Amino acid sequence: MNDDKPAERKSLDERNRMGDLERIRHSCAHVMATAILRLWPEAQFASGPPVENGFYYDVDLAHRISPEDFPKIEEEMKKEIKANHTFEKQVVAREQAFQDAQRGRLGALTDRSEPSKFKLGNLEDIPVGEPISYYRNGDFIDLCAGPHVMRTGNIGAFKLTSVASAYYKGDERNPQLQRIYGTAFKNKTELEAYFKMVEEAKRRDHRKIGQEMGLYTLDPDFTGPGLPLWLPKGAAIAEEIEKLAKETEFLAGYVRVKTPHIAKEKMYLTSGHLPHLYAESMFPPMELLEGERPCRTEATEESGSAKVNRAERYYLKAMNCPHHHRIFAAEPRSYRDLPLRLAEYGTCYRYEQSGELFGLMRVRSLNMNDAHIYCSTEQFAQEFNAVNEMYIKYFKIFGIDKYVMRFSTHDPSRLTGDNAKFVNEPQLWKQTEDMVRDTLKNSGINYVEVPNEAAFYGPKIDVQVWSVIGREFTLATNQVDFAVPKRFGLVYRDRDNIEKTPLCIHRAPLGTHERFIGFLIEHYAGNFPLWLAPEQVRVLTIGDEEPLVSYAKSIVQELRAAMVRAEGDFDSDKINGKIQRAEQAKVHTMLVVGPRDLQANAVSVRVHGKGSLGAKPRADAIGEILASIRERKA
Ligand SMILES: [Zn+2]
Ligand SMILES: [Zn+2]
Repeated sequence: MNDDKPAERKSLDERNRMGDLERIRHSCAHVMATAILRLWPEAQFASGPPVENGFYYDVDLAHRISPEDFPKIEEEMKKEIKANHTFEKQVVAREQAFQDAQRGRLGALTDRSEPSKFKLGNLEDIPVGEPISYYRNGDFIDLCAGPHVMRTGNIGAFKLTSVASAYYKGDERNPQLQRIYGTAFKNKTELEAYFKMVEEAKRRDHRKIGQEMGLYTLDPDFTGPGLPLWLPKGAAIAEEIEKLAKETEFLAGYVRVKTPHIAKEKMYLTSGHLPHLYAESMFPPMELLEGERPCRTEATEESGSAKVNRAERYYLKAMNCPHHHRIFAAEPRSYRDLPLRLAEYGTCYRYEQSGELFGLMRVRSLNMNDAHIYCSTEQFAQEFNAVNEMYIKYFKIFGIDKYVMRFSTHDPSRLTGDNAKFVNEPQLWKQTEDMVRDTLKNSGINYVEVPNEAAFYGPKIDVQVWSVIGREFTLATNQVDFAVPKRFGLVYRDRDNIEKTPLCIHRAPLGTHERFIGFLIEHYAGNFPLWLAPEQVRVLTIGDEEPLVSYAKSIVQELRAAMVRAEGDFDSDKINGKIQRAEQAKVHTMLVVGPRDLQANAVSVRVHGKGSLGAKPRADAIGEILASIRERKA
């Protein structure tokens, strides 16, 4: 589940954990502010944190900064780096800080006639009692808790990248500021490698390739924004991935279920997603009166003396778990039934802000590689490990060499009160987090632990993978749930004849079709391996004469009879033109046949992007194609 929240103020603890690269980038934001002030001394700065791939600083300035201004800002930045000023930390009294901000001295090179208004606002956010510090490089003094690099000269290589607009503190009631983005690296080589990767990512953009190859389309006017339609070629990929999941899950002892796309409100009140927790991520409810007569349900309300029947509310499902929980509850369960692994490629619907929608990466309908494993505490480690092994098996198939599991735990201070974020079960949190940590440690999987980011019902693991060009994606989550089975009253009768609540593992190693295929398009640049390629084989004739065309048709038929997605191109065009068309369509394997091939019962094999592999007996070529598909070769 993606629960994106607005950026919170970094805790001192989080600041201390900032890595070298983040320090370089954040320090570079100070240097950028210094440079902007040399050019426009009246600039008012707000916040300038490091972000993924770089940094930004929000600034209020009458002059609209555009990329044309970047060279002169960068010129000033270079001077500041060359001056090699130290980042000097100064702890100040709260009173002093407010006075300096009033004098316009914060986020500035000198005192100014206008107060540093945004710094004043930032100061108010610092809890009384928390230390307040400045960082100074040369004349520039900024309100900042750090950390930074030692000296401006430690910033290896940098570049300003773009300008956007943003509201102060992310609140649209506040003034709109200019957000200047840049990035910095330890050295020039790394900076250049990064921009090369960005260029390559543009070339491999899933929206561009998705359209060129005819994989999916978005139809905001009729279907609605964020609801992709899979075209036949995209559906072929989705079907192959689903087949892989079904085979893998079958071999791992999963059973398949199927559930509807909607459920009554009661379902989500029970799961705890409603009324508050997840409401804003769900589509608004449908109200339904059963048949012609208003239905008589427990939703009937007293209104004055007359009973008014209220329509039943149904919601589009935003997750499959509650439905699976009801399947668990559909029969009496005993320890003999556990572990019970219920799998479904379930479609979920989530309400994302229209501004957040992005190709296949952020959508409102999601085909999820979902399953829920109900198990006892004793079975947990083994089940959890098996899930991790399944991930690794998939990574091998897709050639994903770099990945990390982000293990998110809870914050014990947020179990109760207004600020509560996690179910109030301190014992269970400790127990499950310890179990997950031990399993991860023992399996030797590459993981990092992130406090305070667990799901509300248990610890979670986000799996981050890197595409071949080194871009990072969050693909899937894996969650432990010790709370919701209890809310649904799920029990099994144990050996000792006592009813116990099972643990539930939510897992979706292949994520959703939307995000996973979006990732694969970039990963493969649209050049899918044979087993995944929308059009696996095209048979091309040199000329359009009989009996050559009949020979070519028989090859297509033989391949299709073996479930290979094969097509034929028997036009009278020149063979070079036909090959070019097939290459453009990214057809994986081309079988070219001419009169000589016909005589020898052979084919000439060409592979997309690799060129000619020479002539082969027909049976050998077909045998190799079938083996490559069966083994899902890279
Ligand atoms: Zn700073
Ligand atoms: Zn789930």
